[in-house]
Amino acid sequence: NRQVIFRDYVSGSPEETDMEVRESALELRVPEGSNGVLVRNLYLSCDPYMRIRMRKLDVPSYRESFQPGSPIIGYGVARVLESGHPNFKKGDLIWGITGWEEYSLITEPETCFKIEHIDVPLSYYTGLLGMPGMTAYVGFFKVCSPKKGETVFISAASGAVGQLVGQFAKLVGCYVVGSAGSKEKVDLLKNKFGFDDAFNYKEELDLDATLKRYFPEGIDIYFENVGGKMLDAVLLNMKLRGRIAACGMISQYNLEQPEGICNLMNLILKQVRMEGFVVSDYYHLYLKFLETVLPQIKEGKIVYVEDIAKGLENGPAALVGLFSGHNVGKQVIMVSRE
Ligand code: NDP
Repeated sequence: NRQVIFRDYVSGSPEETDMEVRESALELRVPEGSNGVLVRNLYLSCDPYMRIRMRKLDVPSYRESFQPGSPIIGYGVARVLESGHPNFKKGDLIWGITGWEEYSLITEPETCFKIEHIDVPLSYYTGLLGMPGMTAYVGFFKVCSPKKGETVFISAASGAVGQLVGQFAKLVGCYVVGSAGSKEKVDLLKNKFGFDDAFNYKEELDLDATLKRYFPEGIDIYFENVGGKMLDAVLLNMKLRGRIAACGMISQYNLEQPEGICNLMNLILKQVRMEGFVVSDYYHLYLKFLETVLPQIKEGKIVYVEDIAKGLENGPAALVGLFSGHNVGKQVIMVSRE
């Protein structure tokens, strides 16, 4: 059983050498009487929050730190080989939390979802139809309460979550602008995902002036994925009673001291509501989400771009690549086709 082992707690930018691929001789079985599930992992998901788990967390967090010497843990798509749980049987496909290894013994299978619709790429259950897709859905519809004609700004817009938020916003009838870190990504936003406009934030010297150029009358909704300087500039450009969904702040995850935010007073002056959320609180809406999104995919109203690294051994590079914007679209690792 090949595994990607987390070596030790990380400070600063994560590197491939913070993980190593090792062979484990331990034979996995579902113990007698246990309700565990033995799976073969097919696709694994690289997600920015995993960097937070690489830290030694001395404050309570919604996730625990990874264990040095143990496999990386994350979302994935897997085939059930043996099951002690009444909800799952041999042959089922599932998505949920698993290990970065060829085979995993999932000890809390009730946290996994059974995959019923296989007429879409299975890898979508790490992205569009999995945790990031749900994040876009609840963050946009539940936190931002969008209305037709409103102006929407999305940072890290070409990523797993952002590309979907933008398409949802267009379907509602909003004016949508995204920021991303390369020309290729800006082209995707405008030409593939149907954003009204997009810019490369790395080429903009004055983000406040940039946002004023794209939103002369201000921003109704900001879907926050990056934090830091971008958030500060957005705060200056929010409209009266605007909404900010605080989804993530990837620009801060590698810093020992988070950057200060200067313009928070604007929340008061413009009566802006800024709300943080964690997707796992909303999984009860998953079936409703599927009912909404599956037809939209089939009708071609929603498209999705993935960046698939082939082979477990390429997992560490794929994961650290998120923090330099190496991924174009949702970063997935293909462990095995079957
Ligand atoms: P992405 O697929 O967008 O990958 C991360 C992207 O972030 C990179 O490709 C890069 O794109 C951008 N990035 C990296 N470093 C920086 C930086 N220093 N400044 C600005 N941009 C940077 O990730 P996801 O779509 O999966 O996640 C987006 C956000 O949503 C993250 O902050 C994540 O933590 C958060 N999230 C929150 C959840 C919740 O429950 N609240 C659940 C899931 C995700 P570029 O080339 O454009 O710079």
